[in-house]
Amino acid sequence: MKFCSQCGEAVSERIPAGDNRVRFVCAHCETIHYQNPRIVAGCLVTHEHQVLLCRRAIEPRHGFWTLPAGFMENGETTEQAALRETWEEARARVEAQQLYMLFNLPHINQVYMFFRGQLADMEFAAGEESLEVRLFGESDIPWDQLAFPTISKTLRQYYADIHTREFPVRMLDIPWPPHRRPGSLS
Ligand code: ZN
Repeated sequence: MKFCSQCGEAVSERIPAGDNRVRFVCAHCETIHYQNPRIVAGCLVTHEHQVLLCRRAIEPRHGFWTLPAGFMENGETTEQAALRETWEEARARVEAQQLYMLFNLPHINQVYMFFRGQLADMEFAAGEESLEVRLFGESDIPWDQLAFPTISKTLRQYYADIHTREFPVRMLDIPWPPHRRPGSLS
Protein backbone atom coordinates (compact mmCIF):
# COMPACT_ATOMS: atom_id res chain seq x y z
CA MET A 1 0.00 0.00 0.00
CA LYS A 2 1.34 3.43 -0.96
CA PHE A 3 -1.56 5.83 -0.50
CA CYS A 4 -4.32 6.16 2.06
CA SER A 5 -7.69 4.92 0.77
CA GLN A 6 -9.43 7.44 3.05
CA CYS A 7 -7.67 10.70 2.14
CA GLY A 8 -5.17 9.92 -0.65
CA GLU A 9 -2.04 10.98 1.23
CA ALA A 10 1.05 8.76 1.35
CA VAL A 11 1.05 6.11 4.07
CA SER A 12 4.05 4.95 6.09
CA GLU A 13 4.82 1.70 7.88
CA ARG A 14 5.05 1.89 11.64
CA ILE A 15 3.82 0.25 14.82
CA PRO A 16 0.80 2.18 16.12
CA ALA A 17 0.62 3.05 19.82
CA GLY A 18 -0.66 0.07 21.82
CA ASP A 19 0.01 -2.35 18.94
CA ASN A 20 2.89 -4.75 18.38
CA ARG A 21 2.94 -5.09 14.57
CA VAL A 22 3.98 -2.87 11.72
CA ARG A 23 0.92 -1.41 9.95
CA PHE A 24 0.29 0.99 7.10
CA VAL A 25 -0.59 4.23 8.88
CA CYS A 26 -1.73 7.54 7.42
CA ALA A 27 -0.12 10.45 9.25
CA HIS A 28 -2.59 12.85 7.64
CA CYS A 29 -5.96 11.38 8.72
CA GLU A 30 -4.56 8.88 11.27
CA THR A 31 -6.28 5.88 9.68
CA ILE A 32 -4.58 2.57 10.46
CA HIS A 33 -4.95 0.24 7.47
CA TYR A 34 -5.14 -3.25 8.96
CA GLN A 35 -4.49 -6.15 6.61
CA ASN A 36 -5.83 -9.58 7.51
CA PRO A 37 -5.99 -13.04 5.92
CA ARG A 38 -8.51 -13.75 3.19
CA ILE A 39 -10.78 -16.77 2.94
CA VAL A 40 -10.97 -18.95 -0.16
CA ALA A 41 -14.03 -21.21 -0.26
CA GLY A 42 -14.68 -24.07 -2.66
CA CYS A 43 -16.24 -27.47 -3.19
CA LEU A 44 -15.08 -31.02 -3.63
CA VAL A 45 -17.97 -32.15 -5.83
CA THR A 46 -18.32 -35.89 -6.17
CA HIS A 47 -20.36 -38.27 -8.28
CA GLU A 48 -20.10 -41.89 -7.25
CA HIS A 49 -16.35 -42.05 -6.63
CA GLN A 50 -15.46 -39.43 -9.18
CA VAL A 51 -14.48 -35.82 -8.46
CA LEU A 52 -15.23 -32.70 -10.47
CA LEU A 53 -12.12 -30.77 -11.54
CA CYS A 54 -11.74 -27.53 -13.49
CA ARG A 55 -8.80 -26.70 -15.75
CA ARG A 56 -7.81 -23.12 -15.05
CA ALA A 57 -8.27 -20.47 -17.72
CA ILE A 58 -6.57 -17.85 -15.53
CA GLU A 59 -3.23 -17.22 -13.88
CA PRO A 60 -1.73 -18.35 -11.62
CA ARG A 61 -1.38 -21.95 -12.78
CA HIS A 62 -3.15 -21.49 -16.10
CA GLY A 63 -3.94 -24.89 -17.65
CA PHE A 64 -3.61 -26.81 -14.37
CA TRP A 65 -6.50 -28.63 -12.70
CA THR A 66 -8.20 -27.35 -9.59
CA LEU A 67 -11.32 -27.64 -7.47
CA PRO A 68 -13.82 -24.83 -7.98
CA ALA A 69 -12.94 -22.24 -5.34
CA GLY A 70 -12.40 -18.53 -4.92
CA PHE A 71 -12.34 -15.57 -2.58
CA MET A 72 -15.35 -15.01 -0.37
CA GLU A 73 -17.37 -11.88 -1.03
CA ASN A 74 -18.66 -9.59 1.70
CA GLY A 75 -22.13 -10.54 2.90
CA GLU A 76 -21.72 -14.26 2.18
CA THR A 77 -21.38 -17.29 4.40
CA THR A 78 -18.50 -19.63 3.61
CA GLU A 79 -20.97 -22.21 2.30
CA GLN A 80 -22.66 -19.68 0.02
CA ALA A 81 -19.26 -18.63 -1.31
CA ALA A 82 -18.28 -22.24 -2.02
CA LEU A 83 -21.54 -22.94 -3.88
CA ARG A 84 -21.31 -19.68 -5.83
CA GLU A 85 -17.75 -20.40 -6.92
CA THR A 86 -18.76 -23.92 -7.97
CA TRP A 87 -21.53 -22.48 -10.10
CA GLU A 88 -19.31 -19.77 -11.60
CA GLU A 89 -16.38 -22.02 -12.46
CA ALA A 90 -18.04 -25.38 -13.12
CA ARG A 91 -21.71 -24.53 -13.76
CA ALA A 92 -22.48 -27.29 -11.26
CA ARG A 93 -24.98 -27.50 -8.43
CA VAL A 94 -24.11 -29.35 -5.26
CA GLU A 95 -26.22 -31.09 -2.65
CA ALA A 96 -25.66 -32.39 0.88
CA GLN A 97 -22.50 -30.35 1.23
CA GLN A 98 -20.57 -30.33 4.48
CA LEU A 99 -17.36 -28.68 5.54
CA TYR A 100 -14.48 -31.07 4.86
CA MET A 101 -11.01 -29.49 4.66
CA LEU A 102 -9.62 -26.31 6.21
CA PHE A 103 -6.12 -25.19 5.25
CA ASN A 104 -4.06 -22.47 6.89
CA LEU A 105 -1.62 -20.85 4.44
CA PRO A 106 0.17 -18.26 6.58
CA HIS A 107 2.82 -17.54 3.95
CA ILE A 108 0.20 -16.07 1.60
CA ASN A 109 -2.24 -14.89 4.30
CA GLN A 110 -5.06 -17.17 3.19
CA VAL A 111 -7.42 -19.73 4.71
CA TYR A 112 -8.94 -22.31 2.37
CA MET A 113 -12.25 -24.00 3.21
CA PHE A 114 -13.47 -26.87 1.05
CA PHE A 115 -16.97 -28.30 1.36
CA ARG A 116 -17.70 -31.83 0.16
CA GLY A 117 -20.97 -32.62 -1.57
CA GLN A 118 -22.60 -34.55 -4.36
CA LEU A 119 -23.20 -33.32 -7.87
CA ALA A 120 -26.93 -32.53 -7.85
CA ASP A 121 -27.46 -33.58 -11.47
CA MET A 122 -25.16 -34.49 -14.33
CA GLU A 123 -25.06 -30.92 -15.61
CA PHE A 124 -21.74 -29.10 -15.53
CA ALA A 125 -19.73 -26.97 -17.93
CA ALA A 126 -16.75 -24.65 -18.07
CA GLY A 127 -17.47 -21.24 -16.59
CA GLU A 128 -15.56 -18.06 -17.43
CA GLU A 129 -12.45 -18.99 -15.46
CA SER A 130 -12.24 -22.61 -16.66
CA LEU A 131 -10.96 -24.14 -19.91
CA GLU A 132 -12.79 -27.41 -19.26
CA VAL A 133 -14.58 -29.23 -16.45
CA ARG A 134 -14.49 -33.00 -16.05
CA LEU A 135 -15.23 -35.83 -13.66
CA PHE A 136 -12.19 -37.93 -12.78
CA GLY A 137 -11.90 -41.27 -11.03
CA GLU A 138 -8.97 -41.76 -8.65
CA SER A 139 -6.86 -43.58 -11.24
CA ASP A 140 -7.19 -40.93 -13.93
CA ILE A 141 -6.72 -37.78 -11.84
CA PRO A 142 -3.84 -35.77 -13.40
CA TRP A 143 -1.86 -35.75 -10.14
CA ASP A 144 1.15 -34.01 -11.70
CA GLN A 145 -1.02 -31.29 -13.22
CA LEU A 146 -2.91 -30.13 -10.14
CA ALA A 147 -2.75 -26.41 -9.51
CA PHE A 148 -2.02 -26.20 -5.78
CA PRO A 149 -0.97 -28.37 -2.82
CA THR A 150 -4.38 -27.75 -1.21
CA ILE A 151 -6.00 -29.50 -4.18
CA SER A 152 -3.82 -32.60 -4.12
CA LYS A 153 -4.10 -32.91 -0.33
CA THR A 154 -7.91 -32.64 -0.46
CA LEU A 155 -8.17 -35.27 -3.21
CA ARG A 156 -5.78 -37.67 -1.45
CA GLN A 157 -7.71 -37.25 1.80
CA TYR A 158 -10.98 -37.94 0.02
CA TYR A 159 -9.73 -41.17 -1.54
CA ALA A 160 -8.30 -42.24 1.83
CA ASP A 161 -11.59 -41.50 3.60
CA ILE A 162 -13.67 -43.39 1.04
CA HIS A 163 -12.43 -46.65 2.55
CA THR A 164 -13.89 -45.86 5.98
CA ARG A 165 -16.85 -43.89 4.59
CA GLU A 166 -16.21 -41.28 7.23
CA PHE A 167 -15.31 -37.75 6.23
CA PRO A 168 -14.51 -35.76 9.37
CA VAL A 169 -13.50 -32.11 9.09
CA ARG A 170 -9.74 -31.81 8.94
CA MET A 171 -7.49 -28.82 9.44
CA LEU A 172 -4.05 -28.81 7.84
CA ASP A 173 -1.30 -26.21 7.84
CA ILE A 174 0.61 -25.60 4.62
CA PRO A 175 3.99 -24.63 6.05
CA TRP A 176 6.08 -21.62 5.12
CA PRO A 177 8.63 -22.34 2.39
CA PRO A 178 11.95 -22.48 4.34
CA HIS A 179 13.49 -19.45 2.61
CA ARG A 180 10.42 -17.28 3.26
CA ARG A 181 9.90 -18.10 6.93
CA PRO A 182 9.46 -14.95 9.06
CA GLY A 183 12.85 -13.93 10.41
CA SER A 184 14.82 -15.75 7.72
CA LEU A 185 17.62 -13.67 6.23
CA SER A 186 16.85 -14.01 2.55
ZN1 ZN B 1 -5.38 9.22 5.27
